[in-house]
Amino acid sequence: MKSFRKELWFNVPSRRAFVNITPQVDQCLRESGITEGLVLVNAMHITASVFINDDESGLHQDYEGWLEKLAPHEPISLYRHNRTGEDNGDAHLKRQIMGREVVVAITNGKLDFGPWEQIFYGEFDGGRRKRVLVKIIGE
Ligand code: ZN
Repeated sequence: MKSFRKELWFNVPSRRAFVNITPQVDQCLRESGITEGLVLVNAMHITASVFINDDESGLHQDYEGWLEKLAPHEPISLYRHNRTGEDNGDAHLKRQIMGREVVVAITNGKLDFGPWEQIFYGEFDGGRRKRVLVKIIGE
């Protein structure tokens, strides 16, 4: 069995954003030389997510509105977590609902997606360098 590990770095200038990282994961798959197996992609931070859905701007605006309704960024005092002096209580909750990681099958050297599936990095507390782990196992 072969294995491959790489960290992808992001520095999203805004507080929140969704980034399609499918091309970077695809590049990792080509670098790995693995043609049958599994790829795990996970956010390495507790205020960011990795998830799979459609690359469609209306949907991304809907996520933004929905997440802000569930866990609005302000008022900062809404969150007990922020009593530590932080201001990202909302980002921890947004990360929880959007998920930590995805696993995608690799078949014939390709990411074996369903229709329209793409991999996204969800940033909920941006403005700094953060990482995503890509781990590929197989042969
Ligand atoms: Zn925090």
